[in-house]
Amino acid sequence: MSGGMSFELTEDQQLIRQSVAELAAKFDDHYWMTKDQAHEFPREFYDAIAGGGWLGMTIPEEYGGHGLGITEATILAEEVARSGGGMNAASSIHMSIFGMQPVVVFGSDEMKAETLPRIVSGDLHVCFGVTEPTAGLDTSRITTFAKRDGSDYVVNGRKVWISKALESEKILLLTRTTPRDDTAKPTDGLTLFLTDIDRDHVDIRPITKMGRNAVSSNEVFIDDLRIPAEHRIGEEGKGFSYILHGLNPERMLIAAEALGIGRVALDRAVKYANERVVFDRPIGMNQGIQFPLADSLARLDAAELILRKATWLYDNGKSCGREANMAKYLCADAGFAAADRALQTHGGMGYSEEYNISRFFRESRLMKIAPVSQEMILNFLGSHVLGLPRSY
Ligand SMILES: Cc1cc2nc3c(=O)[nH]c(=O)nc-3n(C[C@H](O)[C@H](O)[C@H](O)COP(=O)(O)OP(=O)(O)OC[C@H]3O[C@@H](n4cnc5c(N)ncnc54)[C@H](O)[C@@H]3O)c2cc1C
Repeated sequence: MSGGMSFELTEDQQLIRQSVAELAAKFDDHYWMTKDQAHEFPREFYDAIAGGGWLGMTIPEEYGGHGLGITEATILAEEVARSGGGMNAASSIHMSIFGMQPVVVFGSDEMKAETLPRIVSGDLHVCFGVTEPTAGLDTSRITTFAKRDGSDYVVNGRKVWISKALESEKILLLTRTTPRDDTAKPTDGLTLFLTDIDRDHVDIRPITKMGRNAVSSNEVFIDDLRIPAEHRIGEEGKGFSYILHGLNPERMLIAAEALGIGRVALDRAVKYANERVVFDRPIGMNQGIQFPLADSLARLDAAELILRKATWLYDNGKSCGREANMAKYLCADAGFAAADRALQTHGGMGYSEEYNISRFFRESRLMKIAPVSQEMILNFLGSHVLGLPRSY
């Protein structure tokens, strides 16, 4: 990375952008609409991304990956979403791209050797189990409990919204190993595992949801699931800190996905606004249509800049909490606004499924809620950056 200020991607990064865009372009609107409507995992797309070697982008080279940074990962995520694949495409590969970070950093050598090469090849699907119905965003309140029993743990509890659980062989599972009331800090006493989803002890039920239907999100009921102690990541009781480690990069990835959807929605809106003639003029000649689109362009470009700053800081080992949170907040907002305006530009056709705009609208709405809500981002900025009192 050069010392001076630069807004240019390196040649390698530009090549990544171009190659991913070319690959993703092979999957057209019809493909994504069909998968979304059929609630079917986009296996062909996933296999193509794996076949191109992209799943291992951030996995260390010794495990078959490319050892690249979050900058490259966000370029990939943005292009995948921007291709029109949106969140259906991005969520199908999201966990492989950076979700294994707790394993990479804190996992045992055996665990890494067993799982990371399989992530790279695309053969291993993993989901991430944190959210619980009664805990919400207050992760310290989770109650799924892992009780030590000899060389195993026995787990009981319930998770909700777990994406891709239906398609996954393993789950990165956050549990409690010490009751909240018996710990010094509420976030102590949480333990993280990477373990097999044994269907005899894990019941998975898809949730009917508003969009991104090619990738399931599920209720997960865990009933006396035995987990060998070797499946624990790092030390008992430190699971929350391991998860924290991956939160900033995850926010950046989500930001990039929101940005990608915003870009594709804007492109489609511009095309339609130039072509659609009403009252003897293209509708894009009207400032009521043109200005919101121009405004979205400015907002997407500005959001991208803070994202680029965040990824640069992270890849250069500098603290990036402020920027990562802002990037998620601003990209989610700009992405959704662009999709909403694209829908308005398309008039009645925006509301139909034919133009895919309604799919972008439904999918871009998600990033204002998950994996962390806009309110929690403002809470972080308000209390951690500005020094205001906490509400959480
Ligand atoms: C499609 C989808 C996929 C998902 N995939 C996964 C997954 O793979 N794994 C996983 O673990 N989870 C997943 N989630 C869960 C997601 O991370 C949570 O939905 C999200 O973190 C919000 O938590 P909650 O739904 O419990 O909201 P709640 O905690 O119930 O919050 C409800 C609302 O209250 C607001 N609120 C709460 N407290 C405060 C406060 N102090 N100040 C201001 N506002 C506040 C929140 O911002 C939110 O708007 C997914 C969710 C969705 C919708």
